[in-house]
Amino acid sequence: MSNIRFQALQSVLTRIIPEVKTPGTKISDYYAANVFDKKKMREYVSKEAYQSLINSIDNGEPIARDVAEQVASAMKAWAMSKGVTHYTHWFQPLTGTTAEKHDAFFEPTADGAIEKFSGDALAQQEPDASSFPNGGIRNTFEARGYTAWDPSSPAFIMGPTLCIPTVFVSYTGEALDYKVPLLKALNALDKAAVEVCHYFDKSIEKVNASLGIEQEYFLVDLALFNARPDMYLTGRTLFGHMSAKNQQLEDHYFGSIPGRVFAFMQDFETEALLLGIPLKTRHNEVAPSQFECAPIYEEINLAIDHNQLLMDVMDRVARKHNFKVLLHEKPYAGVNGSGKHNNWSMITNTGKNLLSPGKTPKNNLMFLTFFANTIKAVHEHADLLRASIASVNNDHRLGANEAPPAIISIFLGSQLNEVLDEIETSRISKKSKDEALLWQNIPKIPQILKDNTDRNRTSPFAFTGNKFELRAVGSSANSASPMTILNLIVADQLTKFKLEVDKLIKKGEKKDVALLTIIKKYIKESKAIRFEGNGYSSEWETEAASRGLSNIKTTPKALDALVTEKTENLFEATVVFSKREAHARHEVLLEEYYKKLQIEARVMGELVNSLIIPAAVTYQSKLVENAKGLKDLGLDESTYSAQLDIIKKIAEHVNFIKSNADQMVEARKSANGIEDAREKSIAYDETVKSFFDPIRYHVDKLEQLVDDSLWPLPKFRELLFIK
Ligand code: ADP
Ligand code: MG
Repeated sequence: MSNIRFQALQSVLTRIIPEVKTPGTKISDYYAANVFDKKKMREYVSKEAYQSLINSIDNGEPIARDVAEQVASAMKAWAMSKGVTHYTHWFQPLTGTTAEKHDAFFEPTADGAIEKFSGDALAQQEPDASSFPNGGIRNTFEARGYTAWDPSSPAFIMGPTLCIPTVFVSYTGEALDYKVPLLKALNALDKAAVEVCHYFDKSIEKVNASLGIEQEYFLVDLALFNARPDMYLTGRTLFGHMSAKNQQLEDHYFGSIPGRVFAFMQDFETEALLLGIPLKTRHNEVAPSQFECAPIYEEINLAIDHNQLLMDVMDRVARKHNFKVLLHEKPYAGVNGSGKHNNWSMITNTGKNLLSPGKTPKNNLMFLTFFANTIKAVHEHADLLRASIASVNNDHRLGANEAPPAIISIFLGSQLNEVLDEIETSRISKKSKDEALLWQNIPKIPQILKDNTDRNRTSPFAFTGNKFELRAVGSSANSASPMTILNLIVADQLTKFKLEVDKLIKKGEKKDVALLTIIKKYIKESKAIRFEGNGYSSEWETEAASRGLSNIKTTPKALDALVTEKTENLFEATVVFSKREAHARHEVLLEEYYKKLQIEARVMGELVNSLIIPAAVTYQSKLVENAKGLKDLGLDESTYSAQLDIIKKIAEHVNFIKSNADQMVEARKSANGIEDAREKSIAYDETVKSFFDPIRYHVDKLEQLVDDSLWPLPKFRELLFIK
């Protein structure tokens, strides 16, 4: 039994749990020790330089050269005191992962060598990076891309390297990453939200979006993972009959965490905490070997950097524990996939959460303003939000009755629903001189909301007491993609709201009446997007269609929303994407879509031909020999009828698999001939991917027939249960 599956199983049995060392017993003692945060900055740079940097962070003012110079040498001194030798600009290209290119501080001089890190090197770099996806923005002959320091996200140390969070733009100034559009959208939101806040409180100067990202993932033993080419090449299993026991007993969710997994969690959490990632929660998820971690929410740009960093840290630490972290949205057909819930709100510089219902009617009006505008924004641009979470991996989850459907809707909970209904049907007492009478129209919002009492897990966008939770984001996604869209559509909506309210005020309406009038109008207009029922049910699909909500199940079509005229106008109004950038991104996403399917199709073809069919045929030959032997002994056919039956079944499956795999190659060839990325993606979806399930079905049947000792790929029961 020398096949790689059995070698892998052998290694799993001999695993020893590595000892986990934490830097101290109190997390607060070592939290953020590897981050050059504001506190450390203050220790290392002059008061003036510090203040000037804070101004740049808060108000986006350009950073003076001498300030950059001071900060650079401070960073270097701090980093070197911690054994760091190199630095890198750390950025988020459209590949979805993070990128880095390390340079040494060291520089030779006439009489030896020095360690140097200049303000220029901190502020900007020109990575020779012509092979990042750019959607045609950057031709290889002008391959220059620039990374530029983002001072709002602090530098940190990973091993011997100082990492500086940066944006990534082309020579012509167009965004080539996820961070630039996010920062622009946040800026738009800040401006629009502050203006609206001034109806209620003139002292508010800044509004930040807040984000807490729950991260789901699977763990699998590294040896088993490496014995599955489909897993290490595509991130998911392309075949595999479901284990007899899977998640049906619901005994994994919140269960006690297995020892090996617990050690891994402690280890990566420690690394993450040292990097200032405020991880707070860990638990088992629904599927076997599925887990989740969640940090305390942070300012959104930082929360996203931290999530990107976290995925990287988890992957690296897992190796030490002989685990592989699967961040794929659907590693195993038949059990739940993984998502990344994005908990989002808006918080003022005065510390007020704008989505937290207030105690007084006046505060409630402020809450209702932001609440109704968010709902209206999502109603208006549901398709764009859907596009922002579209990926080939996420298509497996959306609409598969386990994750929020591809239909974007909003869950509010019965109490807030009633509140909105009440406002919608109430008459606003415009004439009244008596303030108290006006407030009668603003229903009281009960305080118990904060406990998230009624929750609906089937909704893609749910209000949970003092924040909205976008649940449709895929587990491997960069949250910047949906968060850029969410923040910019809310920004745009708030700007429109302000115009409408001001118009009424100009006409002589009282401010509160004007506010309430427009809120009421928005509640009416965006009613179709509100849904409290079961989002997984087929009735909802029918009802959503009758409400005019879209249900776009596949990525290539969902992405259309990025390049419609409506979206173009929105992007132009909020200055987040230029038309060229939006089209480039559309192109990049489509390319990613068909390329991933192309890889999956190739891996599938390779594996059926070189592993699956040979294993099946080997077993079949054994049976043939056996049947022949029995026949030679002069025995009746009835004594080997079972063998004959299996021989025939194997032949049927093998023939089906072979002919379908061959047809899939032809389908791929013809799809590859298509020039247009959208057409090509649709062809891949409709004519290539359509072979996956039938081929898989027959492979999985073979898995059940063929002698276990000959089966080459680790089985689901092994992947999901052995650790
Ligand atoms: P659940 O699994 O019940 O949704 P978790 O505790 O796992 O809850 O995650 C909730 C997430 O929401 C945490 O990351 C938390 O910090 C975050 N969160 C709480 N309040 C806010 C807020 N005002 N803005 C953004 N995120 C928030
Ligand atoms: Mg959760």
